[in-house]
Amino acid sequence: MKKNLMGMTLPQLEEFAESIGEKRYRGKQLFEWLYRRRAGEFEVMSSFSKKTREVLNASGSIGSLRLTGDTQSHGDGTRKFLFELEDGKRIESVLIPPSTAFDSRNARNEEEQRRLTLCVSTQVGCALDCTFCATASMGFLRNLTTGEIVDQLIRVSEISGRKITNLVYMGMGEPLMNYDHVMDSTEIISTAMDIAARRITISTAGWVPRIRKMAEEKRKMKLAVSLHSLDDGTRSLLMPINRKYPLPALMEVLAYYYKLTKLRVTFEYILFDGVNDGEADLRRLVKLARTIPCKINIIPFHTIDFVRPTGLSTTLRPTPGERADQFVRSLRDANVTVFVRSSAGEDITAACGQLAVRHPELSRTMHYKSASHSR
Ligand code: SAH
Repeated sequence: MKKNLMGMTLPQLEEFAESIGEKRYRGKQLFEWLYRRRAGEFEVMSSFSKKTREVLNASGSIGSLRLTGDTQSHGDGTRKFLFELEDGKRIESVLIPPSTAFDSRNARNEEEQRRLTLCVSTQVGCALDCTFCATASMGFLRNLTTGEIVDQLIRVSEISGRKITNLVYMGMGEPLMNYDHVMDSTEIISTAMDIAARRITISTAGWVPRIRKMAEEKRKMKLAVSLHSLDDGTRSLLMPINRKYPLPALMEVLAYYYKLTKLRVTFEYILFDGVNDGEADLRRLVKLARTIPCKINIIPFHTIDFVRPTGLSTTLRPTPGERADQFVRSLRDANVTVFVRSSAGEDITAACGQLAVRHPELSRTMHYKSASHSR
């Protein structure tokens, strides 16, 4: 049985080298070839003898993602990639161009203009069932391996021919429920692939024990927390995870996180008309910003009608533009650091929360309206 080397950490590659009768330091060479030089095949690994390359070919393979879709937004250049995994399951990754990664008003300096962000998936589907998110309609199929996460970056760089400068773990899935593979992937990417930990963002719906773990391990990545409401009742309706880890527990762990890491968290906040966009909500956010050092990202609500949602989700509407602007202005007036996320890629259902892929093993009752999702 060939071992897939993609996603192996340095110690794992050293062990692999020994297992095929090579010296341990060969593992380090493999690590460099795989990740720094992004060699897609053993043939090009010129630091190995022909014989060693043959042994490598017989005992190992590199990567497994198969590109089956590549759609570009007409509006803003956002590009969505559909990959098939070895077991036939499918995931999406989204490449977000600089001017749209954040509202252009915020992209002041050159560095921000050069930013090219890749949004990666961490699971096939998701178990958390947030009412407003398209991925929830898939249910949870499985965790991605470390290799499948790293390979999204390698393949998208290769296919697009562009240098990716930032990485966000905001695609399908809850990254902190696939903790070890996610952390191994950030370790590989930040040590060998030229994206420093501070340019990597892990986004969580609020999996409290794993936030604590990230803090205690002093992880240097940025942490984003999907908040969406500071009222426990409302948040539980929007995000069932809030019943398991309610706001007080979440806030307590975030204070602890700041104490240990000194890193500001980013709160993501979708504005839902009449649900979380009132005066009281504003006051709670201002108070929060005074308690926990943070940034707030306001995200427009992107439609998920194409997955035919039921129940509460059918009643959710985006806050109309003028009122959303006013909400943001009021936060700024209160000296809260606030950014407005654009709706990059909405026309190709590649925007936040719109990622969903149809799988045959999913319930028959789930039909997708959009043609782009039907195969
Ligand atoms: N599970 C993680 C990461 C995936 S979701 C998390 O919850 O953070 C990435 C971001 O997209 C989250 O902030 C999520 O709340 C947001 N999102 C989900 N559905 C959305 C929608 N329909 N419109 C806008 N943003 C959405």
